[in-house]
Amino acid sequence: MLLRHTIDEVKERKALTINPAKTCQPVGAMYASLGLHGCLPHSHGSQGCCSYHRSALTRHYKEPVMSGTSSFTEGSSVFGGQSNLIQAFNNMFTVYDPDIIAVHTTCLSETIGDDVSQIAQKAIDDGKVPEGKYIVQASTPSYVGSHVTGFANMCTSIAKTFPEVSEDKLNFVNILPGWVEPSDMKELKRIMGIMHVPFVMFPDTSGVMDAPQTGKHNFFPKGGTKIPDLKRAGSAAYTFALGKFCSEDAGLALKKKCDVEFETFDIPLGLKATDRFLMKLSEVTGCPVPEELEDERGQLVDMITDMEQYLYGKKIAMYGDPDNLIPLTEFLVDIGMKPVHIVTGTPGKYFTEKMASLVPDANFKNGPQADMYLMHQWIKNEPVDLLIGNSYGKYIAKDENIPFVRMGFPIYDRVGHSYFPLVGYRGALRLVEKILSVIMDKIDAESTEEKFELVM
Ligand code: SF4
Repeated sequence: MLLRHTIDEVKERKALTINPAKTCQPVGAMYASLGLHGCLPHSHGSQGCCSYHRSALTRHYKEPVMSGTSSFTEGSSVFGGQSNLIQAFNNMFTVYDPDIIAVHTTCLSETIGDDVSQIAQKAIDDGKVPEGKYIVQASTPSYVGSHVTGFANMCTSIAKTFPEVSEDKLNFVNILPGWVEPSDMKELKRIMGIMHVPFVMFPDTSGVMDAPQTGKHNFFPKGGTKIPDLKRAGSAAYTFALGKFCSEDAGLALKKKCDVEFETFDIPLGLKATDRFLMKLSEVTGCPVPEELEDERGQLVDMITDMEQYLYGKKIAMYGDPDNLIPLTEFLVDIGMKPVHIVTGTPGKYFTEKMASLVPDANFKNGPQADMYLMHQWIKNEPVDLLIGNSYGKYIAKDENIPFVRMGFPIYDRVGHSYFPLVGYRGALRLVEKILSVIMDKIDAESTEEKFELVM
């Protein structure tokens, strides 16, 4: 409908991005900050940037997102934003009383060269940060990277700021969940619970970005990782960094600072990635995988087997964040489907390496020119049976009459993602159900009367 200008001839583009498959770094940094209890994010730049970051998160999670802004004017753009930021610390600690202020930079403050760590230190030295309160800060220039990079940078900064060095390693693990939904974080916690694995998870947006309606506004919802837990993360026996792009740097920072052993895993999305995660969890902690999880795995395998004829050989185009796309691709291949076009706007060599090993015959690309326009062109040249990605894909899906499963960030035009997980075996079951539903809806819509079946 709206994308009829897309032509099928693919030309090499060096500088131009059309309909990017990413958004800006501070959006990710803000999401990570919201996973700390009592934390007020702060955007060091203009009000316009901050409005965008907040509205992107609010429209996806359907929750109000509070944040401060340094409110740059022409003056601060020329002379620097130090006085605005120090004033902001003073105002926010006085008026809103957060436990933590998480500052991220913007294109503007990065370009003029503001050094936020120096400014934060000055605020501490000048007594503008009350006793027991914290400032955490991440550099998030949006002319490089993506929202995923911003999320990773803020997680790394959290890992550098709070965990305390300890000689004694205790019998619990750290989970760095990566950029997943609050529902996914809750599902990870449920899995830990039934395995009886003690853990610290950060960030944790469950209870924050999926807060219940109680009739009362809570400026700081009850969820989020608490400061004492962040501090004791330094004495964990092991860190599971889920998602190379989102969590590996934070795992590495924790290892360097507190000598906590760590390993990077795929986000446990699909069958094999969940298997790998659970097996390692069991190995590290000595807690066996309980029958309850084995049953959930069996149910997933059963559904895949029952519905194999609707899945086998179906071609898929997908776009989104690399930490999701990698295990998703593996899972779709495992259930007999055929990912043929894959793009992500987030740069990083690891993505192409993984795709080359998982789907060597597919079209895949990442970085600034790996955009939705390119994916639409690829689809025009080789049509697909299914499209998977965020809400921006609905225009391509409508234009090309492709069944469409919404997954990733942002999802503005549907609900449920905050409440129903996609990770773990139960999440994979839901994903297969979503895929089958849209494929079968199309079969029903296009069936002739004599082929219109009640039992499929
Ligand atoms: S100017 Fe930069 S930081 Fe601000 S909204 Fe745009 S891309 Fe994001």
